[in-house]
Amino acid sequence: KQAVHLEQAVSVKNKFLMIVALFVLVSLFLLRFAQILTEGIRQLDRSWELHSEQVEKKADAIHQLSQSFGYGGFIHHFKNLVLRLDADYLSRSSTALANTYAAIDYYRSLPITSAETAAVDRFAATVDEYGSRLQQLKTFLGQGFSQAELDARVRVDDSRALQALSELNRSIQAQGAKAKQKNKAQLELSLNLLRDQVILLIAIFLAVGFIFALMIIRLSKSLSELKTIFSASPDALMVSDLSGKIRHVNQKAMAVFGYSEKEFLELSIEDLVPRQFRGSHQQKREHFQQSNRTAAMDQRGVEFFGLKKNGQQFPAEIAISSYASGNSRACIAIIRDVSDKKQLEKRGNTDHMTQLANRRQADLTLVEEIARSHRYGRGLAIILCDIDHFKQINDRFGHEEGDQALIRLSRHLEQRVRTEDSVARWGGEEFLIISPETDLQGAAELAEQIRISLNQLPTEATVEFTISFGVAALQLGDDEHSLIKRADSALYRAKNSGRNRVEVASEDS
Ligand code: GH3
Ligand code: MG
Ligand code: MG
Repeated sequence: KQAVHLEQAVSVKNKFLMIVALFVLVSLFLLRFAQILTEGIRQLDRSWELHSEQVEKKADAIHQLSQSFGYGGFIHHFKNLVLRLDADYLSRSSTALANTYAAIDYYRSLPITSAETAAVDRFAATVDEYGSRLQQLKTFLGQGFSQAELDARVRVDDSRALQALSELNRSIQAQGAKAKQKNKAQLELSLNLLRDQVILLIAIFLAVGFIFALMIIRLSKSLSELKTIFSASPDALMVSDLSGKIRHVNQKAMAVFGYSEKEFLELSIEDLVPRQFRGSHQQKREHFQQSNRTAAMDQRGVEFFGLKKNGQQFPAEIAISSYASGNSRACIAIIRDVSDKKQLEKRGNTDHMTQLANRRQADLTLVEEIARSHRYGRGLAIILCDIDHFKQINDRFGHEEGDQALIRLSRHLEQRVRTEDSVARWGGEEFLIISPETDLQGAAELAEQIRISLNQLPTEATVEFTISFGVAALQLGDDEHSLIKRADSALYRAKNSGRNRVEVASEDS
């Protein structure tokens, strides 16, 4: 369940990142859009400026045209020339004409529409006509034409020029109005887009805020569930960082180890491991933390122990889970005190009275040792011992004394055998010694030593007895039954040959 929660937390984190990324993306997009829009408006402004500049220039050109050509200009001087035949007006007319051409050229240099070009051309045609009349008028001067005759000869119809001029005027007015309208429409469009964008942005903000709120609610729910699991766990739980420092413990951890929460936070995981295991434990933990996994810490034949605050050690089962925490790694350790379980296990394997391994355990050990001997081709011998006439001892001293005798003998046997040997209570007053890496002769010698040593049993014991021994060594093809059987028949022989002696099973060749 915890794993599920952790996964949930991780997926929530991913979702969160996704939403943030999406949000940033959309915001960037909108920002870019706003940028483009602003640029558009700026351009609109610039084109409007350019346009009005052009319209201004055209208006200026028209003004120049009408000034240099109109009734204050060329036409005025030309009419006066015809009326008064004064050379002064001739030069004024020429100047005004040159000015008119300059104005025409200026107008043509501006970016103009085809209609405007046509109008300018028509205007220019009239000007040309006046120009040629002016040339003629020069030759007519002094020839004595009457004023009416002169007027008739050089008369020009200027209505077309005036019409062209007013057409040009109207055209630029229309252009201005059109541009103004277009500009206004564009501006309105841009402003509408901008407004939509602001609305969209607000909507996105609200949506993201809503989603975040939902996520936070869900996250806090998961968190409180996790907290409950953490504190209610029947196992000790602790969270440690990469260096092994303890960051978080539950109630049970405090109960198991005897440290307060504050004391725990000063400790490292290794402080909870008996001194002799610390080095290897740290290595293993560091190796494990690099990986992203959950595993029980179990190695064949290796028992784990915890160290309490009071220095007491206890057998423990440990599972650890390593996970990414921020940009580092953390570890959750689950620790179970298995003292009770181990005690029960031991009770099942031990003979209550003598505290030796019981027959069940002896059977298991024998099977294991036989397998090992066969595998590595090593020797294995067993010694079956049976107290002589124990029934009589019971009869003479009482059952209680008999029990004490069995207990004393058990301790004695344990002391006599080597550390790699094991002693078990095989039956009522029968014991089995299993001696790994021992041949028949070695085992026979051990049995003989034990037989002789029985004289040295504690003297407070009024009970004295002897033992008969049957010794057998493992042979090829032996299993536990055949091995025991050979030891048993050797013992039978010892009993039949007078007891208090060691008999060795005959070896098959
Ligand atoms: P031998 O083996 O030499 O042939 O004679 P024995 O009298 O020892 O043989 P037997 O197997 O007939 O008797 C075993 C006796 O051991 C019977 C039983 O009363 C006694 N005995 C077995 N278990 C216990 C025990 O736990 N306590 C006591 N006090 N006596 C036990
Ligand atoms: Mg017996
Ligand atoms: Mg006996």
